[in-house]
Amino acid sequence: MHDFHQQLDELARQSLLRTRRTVSSAQGPLLTVEARPYLSFCSNDYLGLANHPAITAAAVTALGQYGMGAAASALISGHSAAHETLERALAEFTGLPAALGFGSGYMANMGVIGALVGAGDTVVVDRLSHASLIDGARLSGASLKVFPHNDTQRLDHVLARCGSGRKLVVTDAVFSMDGDQAPLSELAEICARHGAWLLVDDAHGFGVLGPQGRGSLAHAGVRAPHVLCMGTLGKAAGVAGAFVAGERDLLAWIMQRARTYMFSTAHPPALAAAATASLAVIAADEWRRTHLRALVAQLRKGLAGLSWQLLPSQTPIQPLIIGDNARARALMQQLREQGIWVPAICPPTVPRMTARLRISLSALHTQEQVAQLIEALVQAEQVAA
Ligand SMILES: *Cc1c(COP(=O)(O)O)cnc(C)c1O
Repeated sequence: MHDFHQQLDELARQSLLRTRRTVSSAQGPLLTVEARPYLSFCSNDYLGLANHPAITAAAVTALGQYGMGAAASALISGHSAAHETLERALAEFTGLPAALGFGSGYMANMGVIGALVGAGDTVVVDRLSHASLIDGARLSGASLKVFPHNDTQRLDHVLARCGSGRKLVVTDAVFSMDGDQAPLSELAEICARHGAWLLVDDAHGFGVLGPQGRGSLAHAGVRAPHVLCMGTLGKAAGVAGAFVAGERDLLAWIMQRARTYMFSTAHPPALAAAATASLAVIAADEWRRTHLRALVAQLRKGLAGLSWQLLPSQTPIQPLIIGDNARARALMQQLREQGIWVPAICPPTVPRMTARLRISLSALHTQEQVAQLIEALVQAEQVAA
C-alpha cells in the first residue's frame, strides 16, 4: 500500500498542507467563520453580487417554475428555456455571435480545447495560465507548447515552428494569481497571422473590465472570428457556471464535441435564471466598477512603501509577494488573529519562492475596511523587520 500518511506529513513540514475553513454566513466582505467574524479579502466576488437580492429572487422564481434539477444533459432534455435565455443574453452581453453554457469554467476549458484540437495539432499556452487550460491542453492529445508569460515575440516563434496541424493559443485574460493582463490585441494579431485560434479565459475580467463590464475582449477592442472567449459566472457574476462565446460554427462544433458538455448533467435552470439576472445588474451598476477602481488605487497607495512587493496589477487581484511559504502562512495567521482573512497562495499554485498574500477586493468593501487591511499589513511588516 502506498503511504499517503508520510506524504501528507511531508507537505505539512513544508507548510504546503491545505485546509478548509467552514463559512456559515452568506458571502460578502464580512464572513462568519467557525463562529468568528472576519473581514474577508479572499473571494472572487469582485462586484459583490454573490448575495444580491435581485439575483437570489430570480433563482427563487425559477425554482418555482422549473423545480431544482435539470435531470439530464443539455443534449438530451436538460436544456431549459432559462438556459436558452441565458445563452442569448451572454452572446448579446459579450457582443459575440453565440454563447454556449457549461457547468463550470474548469469544465468549459477542458471541453473546448479538446473539441478544437487533438493528436497532430498544437496548443500553445502562456506559462502562467490557469490549471484548467493546462489540463484541457494535456487531455486534448495535441502537442503542448508553453511560452513565457506575456512574451508575444516568443509566441510568434513557437507558432512559426508548429507543424501542419491546427493551432490553438490559450491564455488567461487577467492572470488569476498575478492580476496582470494579457496583451489581447497583439495576441489576436499574431494568431491571425499564423492561422491559429485564440481562446481567452476571462474568468477575472468578465463583469469587471470593459464598458459595462463586458469583459477583457471588449476592453481591448478585440473582436475577430478566430477569437473565442470563455467566461465564468461564479466570480464577478456571483452565481455559478461558465460559458464560451464566439463564432456560430465554432460554437456549434464545440457543442458536438466537448465531452464535458455532452456527458454532464445540465446546470439547474434556477442558476441560469440567476446568471441572466446578474448580467442585468453587471451592466446597470457602473458604481460597482468605479468604487472598485478607487479601492484598488487606495490599496496600492497604502502599501507602496512596504518591503513586500505588490505586483503591478490594475485589477481587483492585488498579490503581495512574501516569498517563503512558511512566512506567507505565518502572515496569513497573524492577520487572521486580528479578524482579517487574506489567503496565502503557495506552490504549486504559484512558482517557488513567490508565496504571496492574494488580496482581492470587492465593490462591497468600504474605504474604511481597506484602510484597516493597510494598517494591519504596515504593522505586520514593522514587526517582521
Ligand atoms: C476560476 C477559474 C477557472 C475555473 O472556473 P470555475 O467556474 O471556478 O470552474 C478557469 N480559469 C481561470 C483563469 C480561473 O480563475
